[in-house]
Amino acid sequence: MVLKDFVALFYPRVCVACHESLIKGEEVLCTPCLLQLPKTAYHRFDENPVRNRLAGRLPLQFASAFLKFRKGGLVQSLLHELKYNNRPEIGVKMGHLYGMELKESGLDIEFDVIVPVPLHASRMRKRGYNQSAKFAEGLSEALCVKWEESISLRVSATNTQTRKGRADRWSNVKDAFSVAAIDGVAGKRVLLVDDVITTGATIEACGHHLVGAGCASLSVACIAEA
Ligand SMILES: [Zn+2]
Repeated sequence: MVLKDFVALFYPRVCVACHESLIKGEEVLCTPCLLQLPKTAYHRFDENPVRNRLAGRLPLQFASAFLKFRKGGLVQSLLHELKYNNRPEIGVKMGHLYGMELKESGLDIEFDVIVPVPLHASRMRKRGYNQSAKFAEGLSEALCVKWEESISLRVSATNTQTRKGRADRWSNVKDAFSVAAIDGVAGKRVLLVDDVITTGATIEACGHHLVGAGCASLSVACIAEA
């Protein structure tokens, strides 16, 4: 018996959404839940809600989100487990699934580097990983495009974001990021990735720094659109 099977005897692998046991070959989600993922298919359209949300705020080549977030839905469980229950593999899996779809649409040749939205150091310590970087990792594997943590956090002002309006959020995050490794993005076609897009303030802040650092073009992909 291999170690993995042995461990599975004591820690049965279950689907993060429905908690049914996973069978061989299934990861993170069981097949029925995988088939039920509320995919947006936004990447097939130039005009889509994510792009429209960021319109006029960033010069974008491409913008999309893999899934549609609904309160109480499957995507909420996925994101909750990813962020608060030490399940980094969920981010990698979502990146992998979306990367395969983007590749099918020929988008794999559109990007030179994938850059995740950074996580503040205190949350990084608590969580142990950056969920957006895990999404970047999965996308990177599927698209054969390298990923890099090119942006870093400078100040710690983003923790009470969820209760604020769009204007407040923007003033809260606009100075929170800086581009650490400018060489990593200058002249490159950057795909900026995050877990969820709500108002888009965080993406806007990061995006401005990437544009300022001289990226050739900027695109955005998120796990989910709320
Ligand atoms: Zn399931």
